[in-house]
Amino acid sequence: MYETKLACVSCHKTYDLGVRYSCAACGGILEVLYDYDRLQREVPPAGLLPEPGLGLWRYKHLLPVTQEAAMLTLHEGGTPLIRSRNLAGEIGAEDLHIKDETRNPSGAFKDRPMTVGISKARELGCRAVTTASSGNGAASLAIYAAKASLPCFIFVPEGTPIGKVAHAVTAGANVIKVRGDYSNSYRTAKQAAADYSWMNITTTFLNPYTFEGDKTVAYELFHQLGRRVPDWILIPTGAGPLVYGIFKGFVELKRFGLTTAVPRLAAVQSEGCQPIVAAFKASQERVKAWDNVQTVASAIADPLRGYERDGELILRVIKESRGLAIAVSDGEMLEDVRRLAATEGVYVEPAAAASVSALKRLLASGEIRKNDKVVCLVTGHGLKDPTSAIREVQVPVIEPGSGELRELDLLRKYAGKEP
Ligand SMILES: *Cc1c(COP(=O)(O)O)cnc(C)c1O
Ligand SMILES: [Zn+2]
Repeated sequence: MYETKLACVSCHKTYDLGVRYSCAACGGILEVLYDYDRLQREVPPAGLLPEPGLGLWRYKHLLPVTQEAAMLTLHEGGTPLIRSRNLAGEIGAEDLHIKDETRNPSGAFKDRPMTVGISKARELGCRAVTTASSGNGAASLAIYAAKASLPCFIFVPEGTPIGKVAHAVTAGANVIKVRGDYSNSYRTAKQAAADYSWMNITTTFLNPYTFEGDKTVAYELFHQLGRRVPDWILIPTGAGPLVYGIFKGFVELKRFGLTTAVPRLAAVQSEGCQPIVAAFKASQERVKAWDNVQTVASAIADPLRGYERDGELILRVIKESRGLAIAVSDGEMLEDVRRLAATEGVYVEPAAAASVSALKRLLASGEIRKNDKVVCLVTGHGLKDPTSAIREVQVPVIEPGSGELRELDLLRKYAGKEP
């Protein structure tokens, strides 16, 4: 409600708030500026940052929509922060918290950027919306567009998990598969948005309003940790708007004098698609697009081809937070999908487990100490992409009644150990 302008993160040129996707002067990423001074004068502290709960619009003062009637919610956000004891014990962390983003309406954190993107589209009077997505953004935009009664057109890579496509199609979205990796879908959505005058709500830094929704993770964590800032936040990362949003949220908290520090941010990618990590490791400021995407973590498989700048912004942000970028393997993520479910009861998709896989590595290397206060974000639900987990599943079938039970291995092993 206190948004003032769009500004280029590279050359700082400013623009009026409207439908705009990049800086006309330099092609840079645009973000929303706010009049924080006026906001602090007019909004009492309690109203500024209320306790977490369902619905992001409780933070409307810090989100870039002004008309109340345009704000559309499906009761997103307000996700639990789970104090981990079982998983923490297994991996040797003493102060581990899991931010469970699977609880969002579409089963992934993408509902945070989407509620803002769709509400802004309504405020600006857009008649139809589009997005490119690796799957979760598709399902998310589909449900918000359904609620808004707006037609939506969604471009996804051919190999997108069927559960996500089915979710979007069932909600009435027009889903179109594009051959090749995510960057091809990104380019296609961009061209189609221009051709047909659709508002582009692609969450990967293209739509400048969407990643404001990601800030709310920071506000919630601040409350959930007892008005404290964690030492580390580990974040599964594609292009990185979630990383950027969380960073911006903590910078705002600091500006309001509520905290003194910004947590260290770890951007976690998959070894099979790690453009940001590769640049980080080589101490380079330039990011090179990734050529050959090979990973089960489809939700974070963004090669950044044609928008390498997204990755460069993330490098800046993780450096500013004194954080890092790290890649993990498919094998580690699949193992941690199992581990998260079997220790904490949280069932996630492979990309979402990347934060836990990275924590294990960083504990082993000593970069994270075992008594650091750590938050692992788990970003998407396991039921949306169970393909890899299904391969491991072997379940016996028996005739009705308990007769055949004693023949089963799993019970033979159990025999004699009953309490
Ligand atoms: C989109 C997505 C990410 C990556 O988010 P970015 O903000 O694009 O970096 C991570 N995990 C899941 C499950 C996602 O759907
Ligand atoms: Zn610029």
